[in-house]
Amino acid sequence: MPDTPAARTPLDHARHLREALALAHEGQKAGSAPVGAVLVDAHGHVVARGRNRVGEAQSAEHVGDASVAHAEMDVYFQVGKLDAPETLTLYTSLEPCLMCGGASALLGIGRIVWATDDPWGGSGRLIKWSEHPAMQDTEVIPCPDAALEHEGAALFAPEAKKAFPEEGWALWRQRYPQETAEVEARE
Ligand SMILES: [Zn+2]
Repeated sequence: MPDTPAARTPLDHARHLREALALAHEGQKAGSAPVGAVLVDAHGHVVARGRNRVGEAQSAEHVGDASVAHAEMDVYFQVGKLDAPETLTLYTSLEPCLMCGGASALLGIGRIVWATDDPWGGSGRLIKWSEHPAMQDTEVIPCPDAALEHEGAALFAPEAKKAFPEEGWALWRQRYPQETAEVEARE
């Protein structure tokens, strides 16, 4: 674990992941993908909230109608330049992709915590987070809460089946057999 201010401060992971999941539900209701993210400071105060907006129109406040309109990017575009990024923790409902992981590294975010792994779209399939040259100062905490991990997997599984190629859905079936079986059973 890197000795950063973020790493030294205990935060309530479950509380912030629950908010990220609530934002994921909001994204789904708005016609985008069910992914949410919250940026939290060292005292547990929320700096910015974001969610996926790929299925929505672009606006002055939010990037939308673009494949890059991921929840994490929504957060980062809102905050602009950060003063002490190493003190911040990014909470996401789903493991960040290479773009969002890369953006987090570029910004020097102190810690990333996610509710649910993404065995296809997540960075971890392509590069080990711990070996990423840009991520050496970022603490990464995957799936710290089993109940929230399940909730996030059940929420995103229908999207994984719809959006990912067969190979990707197969990885999801392998990683989350119970949650993906529920999707299969509905069809
Ligand atoms: Zn992303």
